Formats: sequence, structure tokens, C-alpha cells
Amino acid sequence: MLTSIAGQSVIVTGGSKGIGKGIAKVFAAQGAKVLVAARGLADAEATAEQIRKSGGTAVAHAADVSDWESVQRLVAKTIEVFGQVNILCSNAGIFPQKKMVELSPDEWDHVMTTNLKSTFLCVKACIPAFEKAGKGRVVVTSSITGPITGYPGWAHYGASKAGQLGFLRTAAMELARYNTTINAVMPGNIITEGLRDLGQAYLDGMAAAIPLKRLGRVEDIGNAALFLASDEASYITGQTIVVDGGQILPESAEAIDSI
Ligand code: NAP
Repeated sequence: MLTSIAGQSVIVTGGSKGIGKGIAKVFAAQGAKVLVAARGLADAEATAEQIRKSGGTAVAHAADVSDWESVQRLVAKTIEVFGQVNILCSNAGIFPQKKMVELSPDEWDHVMTTNLKSTFLCVKACIPAFEKAGKGRVVVTSSITGPITGYPGWAHYGASKAGQLGFLRTAAMELARYNTTINAVMPGNIITEGLRDLGQAYLDGMAAAIPLKRLGRVEDIGNAALFLASDEASYITGQTIVVDGGQILPESAEAIDSI
């Protein structure tokens, strides 16, 4: 049993759908006050409403994590409604699949800005709040794709997700003076709206390649994030945890077949 995070103020970027929605629900179920942030206010509001109907506390806010002004407004809004920011879950991201021969330099930049620069912007914007609170927690949603594995069509995405880990190792050192930790969850294939867009054949192929023989659930990531945000994880910083049902383990297709 982890020490309660009840009453703590949490920003979840990309909290309207998928993994972010799972994180938001897991944190809200533990009594945290959740700021659900996404570009689309209707979806963010729908998630916040679901949380409120379950007895939790949540407020929706429209924000674009790739835009510095918008990120600053997100942090200001959180302080306005909840009084402080204790935990940042930097989760928003996109994964458009396109091989390098077709990928334009602008498309590369768009993924880098949305996935990697956004992590820097969100962390930077929260530093004054963490300093004021006397402590803070950052949980980044990275991926196995990039830091560990590769997949055709995701060179830009993989670079952005590996970049997040490079960022967090130095960020961990700089945030230490604010009694703030930063760690990353590295999901495998988790059933989300974004993953479903890749098609049933992709989902079936992935499930078959995972030793635990199922795709991940958003709560699997939410629970890992909850641990990293807990008091019990206060001495862990600059680290990563893979949550993938064993997907990165097999050396070959035969290894999976012989389970
Ligand atoms: P998803 O279902 O497509 O949801 C993405 C969320 O991010 C939505 O709430 C979306 O809302 C928000 N978002 C996208 N761009 C944004 C922006 N510029 N500003 C603010 N919010 C933005 O995706 P997901 O599968 O849950 O993925 C979430 C994170 O997990 C990503 O960082 C992804 O790289 C990572 N991940 C996912 C998997 C997986 O298997 N699903 C595996 C490894 C890592 P709006 O569109 O309304 O802004």
C-alpha cells in the first residue's frame, strides 16, 4: 500500500484519451485532483466529467503542449483551480507512421515538437510551482519504441521518445535542488484510441508477439506512474520502467512460439 496522494494536484497532458485518460483515472481514484489537458476541450471535458461522476476531482483545460504560451497558461490554470502543482504527467504525444523516404522535414519537426520539446516546456513551466511546494514529481510517458526497439515508419517518433530519456537524465539532476524527481514509464503496445487507428492487423500481430499474450491496458501505465509519483519512490530519479508484457524480451519469433 502506497502512502496516499489524496489531495495532490496533478497535471496530465493528453489526459483526454488513451494512456493519459488511464493515468488521470488511476490518480483520481486515489483522491488526487486532476487537471485533464488536451487540445480538444470536448474530449478533455468528457474525461473530467467521467472522473467527477465516479466521485473524483477533475477539471478540463484546452492546451497545446507544443506551445510555450499555452503550457504556461495550463500551469497557471492548475494553480488557479487547485492552488498548486504537485505532480506533472507529461504524456501527450503523437505517433504518425511514415517511412523516411516519404517523411518531410516539417513532419519530423512536428513530431519532435509535440513529443520532445513539449516535455521540456511542461517541466520548465512547473519548476516554480514545485519550488514553492517544496517538492515535485514528474512522470514522462516515453516508449519502448526508440529507446529499445525500432519499427519501420517510426524513426521520427523513436527519436523523440529516446530524446525524452536523454532529457530526463539531466533534468533529474537540475530538478533535485527543488526536491523534485523525474522518471519515465516506457509502455509497450497499450490499447488506446491512437493505437486502434493503426488497424486490427497491427493489434493482432503485436498481441501475438508479446509473451503475456495481450496488449497493455491504460491502467497498467497509470499504476506504474502512480508508483513513480508516490512518496515511496522519493529516492528514484532519472530512471525508467518498461511496462510491456515482456514484449522486448524474445530474441526471435521462434522464442515466442516456444513459450
Ligand atoms: P492517443 O490515444 O492518441 O491520445 C493522445 C492524447 O494526447 C490525446 O489526449 C490528445 O488530445 C493529446 N495530444 C496530442 N497532441 C497534443 C498536443 N499538441 N497538445 C496537447 N495534447 C495533445 O495516444 P496514446 O496511445 O494514449 O499515447 C499517449 C502517450 O503514450 C504518447 O506520448 C505516446 O507516445 C505514448 N505511448 C503510447 C503507446 C501505445 O501503445 N498506445 C506505446 C508507447 C508510448 P488532443 O488530440 O485533443 O490534443
